Amino acid sequence: MDRFDRGESEPEEGLSPEYAFALLGNEVRMSILHELAKADGPVRFNELWSRVGIQDSGRFNYHLGELEGHFLRKTDDGYTLLEAGRNVVLAVYSGVLTDYPDRRMEQIDQPCPLCGDRIEVEVTHRGLARFCLSCSGAFGSRIVEGERTIAERGYSGTLPLPPAALGGRTLEEAYRTGQVLLNLRMMHRSCSVCHHCGARLTHEVDICEQHDLEGDGICDACGVMNGPYQISVLSQCTNCTLRMGGDLGYMLYARSPWMAYLLEEGINPVTATAAERPSWSHEVISMDPFEGAFRWHGKDDTLRIAVDDQLEVTDVTRM
Ligand SMILES: [Zn+2]
Ligand SMILES: [Zn+2]
Ligand SMILES: [Zn+2]
Repeated sequence: MDRFDRGESEPEEGLSPEYAFALLGNEVRMSILHELAKADGPVRFNELWSRVGIQDSGRFNYHLGELEGHFLRKTDDGYTLLEAGRNVVLAVYSGVLTDYPDRRMEQIDQPCPLCGDRIEVEVTHRGLARFCLSCSGAFGSRIVEGERTIAERGYSGTLPLPPAALGGRTLEEAYRTGQVLLNLRMMHRSCSVCHHCGARLTHEVDICEQHDLEGDGICDACGVMNGPYQISVLSQCTNCTLRMGGDLGYMLYARSPWMAYLLEEGINPVTATAAERPSWSHEVISMDPFEGAFRWHGKDDTLRIAVDDQLEVTDVTRM
């Protein structure tokens, strides 16, 4: 059943989103969830009531009862959060539901993965956008956000960064944090697991036939930098609304030949920034059915991984 079409469903069948959010739309209830999330274990009625700090025990009891069953449960030792309640509190802490980061643009001491010059980052509501003043970046200046076209700078994608990730970090530390979050997302993606909801991802390979394999600048047809980067993959979640486009290489992120190669090169696949990873290129072996290869150009040799139309590895070569 579509999650947005559960009507007035009762808790036994799972909650409709409207019903779930209506249940949460109260200060006392949010405070109850927050107090339980902070506790080390179950909390007894009187203790919880005092921590939430309202006078009227009848009112407190009413709100507690409304949350019971889906967001929290009563045990012999007191009240404790259920997974849904814990997720609500975690979403609030991440800031994604409530916070607007202050937009700002700064140069940081990190190299552009393409030309090596220092990059600039901008804090946006989606994360940390990367720009280069010296080259056209991976996507040029074509990026539009809402009504606004971001200025003429080489855009190289946005690192995911929930508002809370900026707290207590310099922009440079935030950049490294965003890179870790992106790398982990790519590992999920490479295993066909949605990083958001855990459901299965499906993938569609797209080869840009107008790509200028020898040229530089940005391809008019697909919006990605020219050169041997003509294979992209669109991944979509079979449950939630997640859609991610991106380079074929992201699909190989959690495959063992690639991870082994990176480790051998002294690179940590979880923490490495784009500039710290080897450069790469694509190779189309066959258009229909699709067969392609991804090459990483390491210090002394190149790793080539060939995949079929299901993105299963068909060949691994060092050359
Ligand atoms: Zn650059
Ligand atoms: Zn293209
Ligand atoms: Zn999903």
